[in-house]
Amino acid sequence: MMIHNTIYCGICTLPVEFCEFGKTFKKCKLWLEDTNPEKFNNLYGSNVNNTSSLSSEKENQISSSLAKMQLKEERKQEREAENLKNSKILIKRIPRTKHKHIVAISNLEILGSDIDMKKIAKSFASKFATGSSVSKNAEKKDEIVIQGDVAEEVEEYLTALMKEKGIEVKIEHVTERFTNKKK
Ligand SMILES: [Zn+2]
Repeated sequence: MMIHNTIYCGICTLPVEFCEFGKTFKKCKLWLEDTNPEKFNNLYGSNVNNTSSLSSEKENQISSSLAKMQLKEERKQEREAENLKNSKILIKRIPRTKHKHIVAISNLEILGSDIDMKKIAKSFASKFATGSSVSKNAEKKDEIVIQGDVAEEVEEYLTALMKEKGIEVKIEHVTERFTNKKK
């Protein structure tokens, strides 16, 4: 098959002709229907000539295994959505001296794989005019550490960011007690 003017899928990034082999076919179709109804009709309209040389038995087998795959993927996405609901961002206030605190934000990755922690850390740095960087915490996961007592401001910022992304994740505040003990 010749592909003229290849259109790349906004969901799975493959040429739209290949969406049906991916795991996000259902979403891909919705996307295409939205962005390019003409192409959508071309591919999935009811009057498409099916010139496939596959026997109908074979075809049924393939479509049923595809359906199974898609169902599995849907279940997985549901599970992930469920996990997302249950997980939360942690904003930890950690005393450095009796009056000085730093703030560590962990679990930010649950906001999505497109979250750029370095970028967020940078914007915190300029927003609060203080040091802010990404480092590994005790669980070897990335967290943003800000030099300053800005837990509330951070929550405001994150709430706005989530609103923008259309997601809802709980934010939990933790304040560590000050001890004189050195680690
Ligand atoms: Zn696709």
